Order: sequence, then structure tokens, then C-alpha cells
Amino acid sequence: MIYPVAVLGGGIAGAAAALRLAQGGVRPVWIAADRRGSFKPGEHLSAAAIPLLTTLGSASVLRSEVHRHAHSTYSAWGSDILIERNAIVQLEGPPIVLDRAAFEDTLSARAIASGAKRIVRDVMDVRITDGHWQLDTGDECIEAGFVFDATGRKAVIASKFSTRFQADKLCCQYALLTSPNEQEPRPVTLIEAEERGWWYMSVLADQRVILNFYSDTDLPSFDSSEYEKNARGTKAISTYLMDYGYDFCGHPRRITTNSSWIAPAIGAGWVAIGDASAAFDPLSSHGMTTALWSAIEAADAFVAQDLQRMQAYADAVAKGVQDYLIAKRTVYSRETRWKNSQFWARRQTNVAKFAETSA
Ligand SMILES: Cc1cc2nc3c(=O)[nH]c(=O)nc-3n(C[C@H](O)[C@H](O)[C@H](O)COP(=O)(O)OP(=O)(O)OC[C@H]3O[C@@H](n4cnc5c(N)ncnc54)[C@H](O)[C@@H]3O)c2cc1C
Repeated sequence: MIYPVAVLGGGIAGAAAALRLAQGGVRPVWIAADRRGSFKPGEHLSAAAIPLLTTLGSASVLRSEVHRHAHSTYSAWGSDILIERNAIVQLEGPPIVLDRAAFEDTLSARAIASGAKRIVRDVMDVRITDGHWQLDTGDECIEAGFVFDATGRKAVIASKFSTRFQADKLCCQYALLTSPNEQEPRPVTLIEAEERGWWYMSVLADQRVILNFYSDTDLPSFDSSEYEKNARGTKAISTYLMDYGYDFCGHPRRITTNSSWIAPAIGAGWVAIGDASAAFDPLSSHGMTTALWSAIEAADAFVAQDLQRMQAYADAVAKGVQDYLIAKRTVYSRETRWKNSQFWARRQTNVAKFAETSA
């Protein structure tokens, strides 16, 4: 059997595309391994995602006490002074701090209930034979006429059939912290720049704290064994952690967070969505929203069998990347305190100089 369309990848982009295609009457085969049980960082969902979830008939997935509204985000960026970005002045409403696993699970369940056929495997190899895709999962070879690549930064199809560009080497060390204290912590998100990079801390609805350190993976200062010591050297964040008795336990994990994109985001018989098409610096808090947007746009173009609309999607991705690179440079150039820091010096330089193709 040759399926009309396959979706690869079980993150937000894959689940949203599988759901949208099924809603449009095209039952996709959705190849996505089960990652339940593993913690995935990235929980600040912009309120701009709510209309997209509404389009997917799924805004209610946010109505759960496992998520919380992020009414207050403070940042010390460009100076030691903490500036509050209060949700009242954010016209689209407050962002949401997600239980990421619960959010992805609910979206996945909706995609399956709407008719997507899920195959719980990874794709090991892809080939095109006689004009259709052969997707090898190890167990079986699935054939499809068209493929949605939603495999995140791995971009298993798009990297093979297009060029991936990379603007920086940003990487993240992250850990979850708990507190034995009975006192309820103030639910805040803190961002704090320092000489080696920047920190992000957020209180989840279950009161655990996620603490991320961002720097460039090739810099000597990006050393996991220094994570706890450096976290204790922060100002606002370390004060908060001490006040509420948060403990460090175990080593931080690492995950790539570079800015990278595919050009073009479509090819013959495939389209890239989510991080597979363009992956952003987490400072933008935009990755999940873009994953939802791109899934809807590409799925609607596929359902309508409208090539012009699919091309318009690819053009919008390319334009979005250019706008994003300008905005990124503007935000980073506001931090000028550490003239001798390689991390910050790199971000004062014209972004175009960093653009390079990945291996
Ligand atoms: C540390 C960190 C913090 C972040 N913070 C935020 C934030 O606060 N707000 C925000 O909006 N965004 C944030 N992001 C970005 C956000 O997480 C991503 O933009 C989003 O996950 C993209 O979704 P996706 O479905 O495209 O990719 P992913 O979530 O990466 O999902 C891709 C899926 O494809 C699967 N896959 C890979 N290879 C294969 C294969 N061969 N076969 C089948 N499946 C495969 C993977 O296992 C994965 O399940 C953050 C990212 C990181 C790393």
C-alpha cells in the first residue's frame, strides 16, 4: 500500500500536522517513536499559539492545572537590574508555562482520534523509488507519495534533499531542581545574562524549577562540571533558588539550541515543518508557536493540493528567518557589559558572517 502522505516525527509539529491532515480528510501515516517518560525542555508557550490551537480545535488542551499562566517574567539583560515584563501589558495575553509532555501527549491523542495512523518507530532510512518514498523503520518499509519532515533539528529528509544553514553554536545545559520546603514558590520566570552566556529559570506548575544555561558549545566556558558553581554565581536566580530552598542534584543534560534553517523548506514530494524547517534561539520563545503555524500552513496546502500555497508557505519561512535574524541580533546587541567575552563578542558581529552550512 502507498499512503498519500506520511508525517515523520512525534513532536509538536508532527502531532499538529497529523491532526490537521486528518481533519482535512487525508489520513496520514504518522511515524513517531514514543518518547513518553523523558523530560523535554522548552515550556514557555507564547499566547500567539492560542489562535493556532483554536484552528486545530484544540485550545482546550491548555485548560489543565498541569500548565500555568506565566504572569511575570523578569529579565536582567544589559544591566543587573531586573525588569518585569508583566502579562497585563502583553496584549495577546500571558504566555503559558506548559507541562510539555502532557501537552504533546494530548495533541498526539487528538491526532490519532482524528484518524492519523501512528506507527511507533523511528525512520532509519529514506529513499525515493519510482516517484514515491520508501521509509524504512527497521520493522517494515512504509511507502508514501509525499512526506512531512517534522523530525526537529535532525531534519532527516530536509537535510538530505536541501541545504541546512546554521547561524551560531548555541547549546543548552539544563536541570530540574526540587525543593523540600513547604512554602509555595512565587511562580516566576527569570532570565539573567552573565559573561559566559545567559540563564533561564522557570517554575513549573508542579513547583519544580527548570534551570537552563545557554552558551556556545565550542567555548571552554561551556563546561558541564561548572554548571552548579556558575548557577550559584548568578545574582537574581541564585537568590531565588536559595530563598525557596531549591537543591541541585545530578549533572545537567545538554541539548542543541542553535539557530538553523533549511533553504528551501520544500522540495519534490516533501515539506519541512517545525524545527526541521527553521529552529530558533529559545530566547525568542517562539519555537512551539512556529511548529504549530508551519504544520497548519503546510497541511492546509497539501489538503488543497495547492502548489502555490505550498510555495507561499516556503517563502513565509524564508522571510521569517530573515526577520528573526535581525531581531536576534538587535536583542543580543543590547548586552554590552562584557567586552572581552567571546560569547557576547560573537553576537555583536554581523550575523551574515556566521552563516555557514552544517556538515
Ligand atoms: C532547551 C530548549 C528550550 C526551549 N524553550 C522554548 C520555549 O520556551 N518556548 C518555545 O516556544 N520553544 C522553545 N524551544 C523550542 C521548541 O522546543 C521547538 O521549537 C519545538 O520542540 C519544535 O517542535 P518540532 O516538533 O519541530 O521538533 P521536536 O520537538 O524536536 O520533535 C521532533 C521529533 O522528531 C523525532 N525524530 C527525530 N528523528 C526521527 C526519525 N529518524 N524518525 C522519526 N522521528 C524522529 C524526535 O525524536 C522528536 O520527537 C526550546 C528548545 C530547547 C532545546
